Amino acid sequence: MYTTPKKLLSDGFSNAKTKKNDLKTFILYLAPYNQNSKKINICPKASKGCAASCLFSAGRGAMSSVILSRTNKTEYLLNDKKTFIEQLAKEILTKVKTAKKKGYKVAFRLNGTSDLDFVYMLKKYASLDIETIKENAVFYDYTKILGKVKKYIKHPNYKLTFSRAEDNETETLEALKLGANVSAVFANNLPKSYKGFKVLDGDKSDDIMINAKNVILGLQAKGEEKKDKSGFVIN
Ligand code: SF4
Repeated sequence: MYTTPKKLLSDGFSNAKTKKNDLKTFILYLAPYNQNSKKINICPKASKGCAASCLFSAGRGAMSSVILSRTNKTEYLLNDKKTFIEQLAKEILTKVKTAKKKGYKVAFRLNGTSDLDFVYMLKKYASLDIETIKENAVFYDYTKILGKVKKYIKHPNYKLTFSRAEDNETETLEALKLGANVSAVFANNLPKSYKGFKVLDGDKSDDIMINAKNVILGLQAKGEEKKDKSGFVIN
């Protein structure tokens, strides 16, 4: 069961990292992995390590309004995809309209806590081709799906960063070879380079990935990640 939420997008100002973005940013947060009544995995390439940190946070705040709202949105998407995507497209276009009027550009991160192909779904279910709004909107995401990186590597306003995990070394190297950015979590201070690629501080802001080219976005281990033994966090 779910109720139709008034809004799907959250203001990036509520997130410690997106708060530091230069661009005004909106994020869509769902309940990650298989945290839904249908047990559908909305992060199909999640590793044990990343899912463990995500699910721990979800478990800890199981009754919090944040988790309830994310779960409700996920149930909405899984039960009425078309209406959900139509509502999402409407919200995006409203933000873009305001940005256009005021003369700025907005950023959207639709996979705040999921790994789905919203660019495809927006086109299919709501006839919204995000290329048509590239003057005032840029979309970005982290993904663990190499196929998505390949599909969108040349897209004019959808920037994907491949997320390195303990079980995707080959895909990580392939993503770097393709020219994509890769994010990696480090236990201690960030190294200058990793796998022969320059490391930038990915914690500085979330939208750093929009302009960065073929680098490692190094993230410092936080919270549960500090206890990681899976290899998700690089020592
Ligand atoms: S893929 Fe991302 S959102 Fe999904 S479980 Fe892993 S870290 Fe969380």
